[in-house]
Amino acid sequence: MLPTLQDWRLKDAMLRGDWHRTKDLMCMGPDWLVQECKDSGLRGRGGAGFPSGLKWSFMPKASDGRPSFLVVNADESEPGTCKDREIMRKDPHKLIEGCLLAGFAMRARAGYIYIRGEYFNEAVILQEAIHEAYQAGFLGKNACGSGYDYDLYLHRGAGAYICGEETALIESLEGRQGRPRLKPPFPANIGLFGCPSTVTNVETIAVTPTIFRRGASWFSGFGRENNRGTKLFGISGHVNNPIVVEEEMSITLQELIEKHCGGVKGGWGNLQACIPGGSSVPVLDENDCQNVMMDFDDLRGKGSGLGTAAVTIFDKSVDMVGAIRRLTHFYSHESCGQCTPCREGTSWMENIMERLEVGEADAREIPMLEEISRSIEGHTICALGDAAAWPVQGLIRRFKHVLEDRIENPGAFDPEKHFQKAWSGLPNTNQEWAKKHGKGKVYGGL
Ligand code: SF4
Repeated sequence: MLPTLQDWRLKDAMLRGDWHRTKDLMCMGPDWLVQECKDSGLRGRGGAGFPSGLKWSFMPKASDGRPSFLVVNADESEPGTCKDREIMRKDPHKLIEGCLLAGFAMRARAGYIYIRGEYFNEAVILQEAIHEAYQAGFLGKNACGSGYDYDLYLHRGAGAYICGEETALIESLEGRQGRPRLKPPFPANIGLFGCPSTVTNVETIAVTPTIFRRGASWFSGFGRENNRGTKLFGISGHVNNPIVVEEEMSITLQELIEKHCGGVKGGWGNLQACIPGGSSVPVLDENDCQNVMMDFDDLRGKGSGLGTAAVTIFDKSVDMVGAIRRLTHFYSHESCGQCTPCREGTSWMENIMERLEVGEADAREIPMLEEISRSIEGHTICALGDAAAWPVQGLIRRFKHVLEDRIENPGAFDPEKHFQKAWSGLPNTNQEWAKKHGKGKVYGGL
């Protein structure tokens, strides 16, 4: 007999172990929860990889009269990243229970989940799941019978990438234009509505109830030192079976792809490049990809990063200059414009990348492009500047020979072939590019 498929609703979530003795976990006290989180070695799953238990411990233990808040970042807007979406639409009670336990651990009065506007179906499911949790007495007054009052709110964003930055997210949640704030003060001191707040990623929060139930040592038994636990990997691009899968940290890239994605299209030898952690981390070439482990430290050692663990695979048919040019367009478009290096630099980089793509640039523009990216990196209010600079730096570091070949031999560039083969991660930019350059045929849907 075929097994009955479980759905996202409370009844089935409880069959999967969610909300099991949550009150007992709360009875262990906030300090125990924070210590377990620290001992598990969990690092933030939103991209930065900051130790989660340490972050929670920054929240004040005694109130100065202001309430504290937990803010969950569900703005998942990084190109190539779609892991949090799977949690919210398939298993929302893991996130909701995590919000209660994490909120209790940091003595928060309420939690806010900020979900990107485009996740309409996920928002509907999540709202209904929150409603179920209230009806079951798991949220609200005397949550889970623990004597602790905790409310959880869902807030839909309006689609700006920059609202995934924690202070821009707070601004947006407060009803203002989503623009990053200067830090300090940090949110743990002055955050949402001027109160102590911790902003953290969906996946980070959703995994914590399981850590508390199974124990920190269970979670820290996965992965290498400093890179502990399991992780959701979202693998897309030129693989046979694109997938979002939970795996052990420090698995090699090749094993991850062979085991879960049916391999690279055309075989491992057809691999040209990989962006291992969402569009903002530098690209790796095929040599880097041999034996690289999917964790924070090994990827940093290769000059890239784990980021959101959104792995994009490029086979040999892809024009990497075109792929990175699309990303420069994305970051230029999403810059909020507060900082001069980001506002001006991202569009300068895009202009140069457009010329490099068709071989119309001067060879001297390659170091110029690198210099612009270095002038942006680390010189801005928020990390979008770095995110814009790193893909370009990665391209120059690993594919400089392609840029030089394109300049020396622009006639070898075939726009017809290129349009069909280029990475299709960012819709409509091919159309914009083609119109701008008068290249005629525009391929719909690319
Ligand atoms: Fe805005 Fe860019 Fe500055 Fe971030 S780095 S605050 S996105 S201008």
